[in-house]
Amino acid sequence: MTETNHDAPSLEDYRASVRSWLAQVEKPDVPLDLDGRFAVLRQWQRALFDAGWIGISWSREAGGQGLTPLHQMVFAEELARAGAPQPIGLIGLDVVGPSIDHYGSPEQKATLLPRLLSGDDIWCQGFSEPNSGSDLASLRTRARVEGDEFVIDGQKVWTSWAHKAQWCALLARTDPDAPKHKGISYILVDMSTPGVTVRPLVQMTGDEEFCEVFFEDVRVPVSNLVGELNAGWSIAQHTLGDERGSYTLRRCVEYEVAVEDAVQELRSHFAASGNRPDDHVCEQVGRAYTAVQGLEGQTRKTMERKMNGEGPSAYDSVDKLSLNETEQLMYTSITDLLGPLRNVTDARPLGLDAARWTKEHYYSRAASIYGGTSQVQRNIIAERLLGLPRG
Ligand SMILES: Cc1cc2nc3c(=O)[nH]c(=O)nc-3n(C[C@H](O)[C@H](O)[C@H](O)COP(=O)(O)OP(=O)(O)OC[C@H]3O[C@@H](n4cnc5c(N)ncnc54)[C@H](O)[C@@H]3O)c2cc1C
Repeated sequence: MTETNHDAPSLEDYRASVRSWLAQVEKPDVPLDLDGRFAVLRQWQRALFDAGWIGISWSREAGGQGLTPLHQMVFAEELARAGAPQPIGLIGLDVVGPSIDHYGSPEQKATLLPRLLSGDDIWCQGFSEPNSGSDLASLRTRARVEGDEFVIDGQKVWTSWAHKAQWCALLARTDPDAPKHKGISYILVDMSTPGVTVRPLVQMTGDEEFCEVFFEDVRVPVSNLVGELNAGWSIAQHTLGDERGSYTLRRCVEYEVAVEDAVQELRSHFAASGNRPDDHVCEQVGRAYTAVQGLEGQTRKTMERKMNGEGPSAYDSVDKLSLNETEQLMYTSITDLLGPLRNVTDARPLGLDAARWTKEHYYSRAASIYGGTSQVQRNIIAERLLGLPRG
């Protein structure tokens, strides 16, 4: 994705310009209800796009800014520090979009990527199925070619934001007789096509983030195929690599800011009460802080790989595993300090915002599942990085 840009500003100058823009722009108040949240955050993504802060490390050819992942990280850091929300279209920006840019036809790139970047189109990732998650290549959603159309039948599940999405990057079986990894294609589906039915599912956080998506005789043009027919598996690996690697970069800076926020809340509490934190508080905060520092070191290596032009690889599984473990350890450590007040939404034990930390803690349980479970990442690391025999 990254091209050499000799006019790239230094990271210090870039940080200063981000700060100055964020200081003068009105940051949105994000409503709690999902429809309101999407409406506000789409406008926010449009404002970021218009100001040149979207697709920072995407190539200029694809509509990005042609800067480095370090510039992207600086931006995400400043955004989080300013208390401003991330853009809403992260599945498009971090997960699916880079694969369309890499493998898509010139027409797909020209028509789809500008709207993806601006947030006019929200994307979802239609990979997992009721019986195909970890063993994704066993997927059974079918797409048969009829004339100049694919006819798609099947079901996806856990499809994040499908009820809000205009487009889906879908994996479907196009050759049922081929070995399972070799009969899959990567097809772009307009979610308003007749025959697509979306049913949201509620998570333990209370949000309707993911959905069941049903496809019944859904007809899409064959020109929506990305890459070659039956060659979708390698494109899916590219998408998953970005989901595991690039997404970790963004989450890491959010964790850093979250730990700083927790420490700030505790500091204010102890300053006001005149008490000293006991050993348990110090130990939990220390654990959270240390975990985030470890992840930060890991993400720096990933940025180096990206800046050397390396694409997604099995090292992304190290990132994803580190992300899972850090997120869960961090939020468990902080939520532990809330004690029995964790479910009292307006409580502030030790000055901590119980509603915020409890919701983050619940969401952190998903980290070891989405993008491939922790067990699956360990398998990849063992087999592809360490050369151990398949289990
Ligand atoms: C918040 C969230 C958002 C998601 N968003 C999306 C999305 O947008 N699009 C999408 O396509 N999917 C999405 N997913 C689905 C996610 O990718 C799958 O849940 C995940 O890949 C696991 O698949 P599964 O749920 O079918 O579990 P299974 O594959 O049935 O696994 C069940 C358990 O068995 C273990 N297991 C399975 N195989 C092995 C093995 N070979 N070795 C060791 N242990 C194994 C797993 O680790 C797990 O603990 C999302 C999931 C979550 C939680």
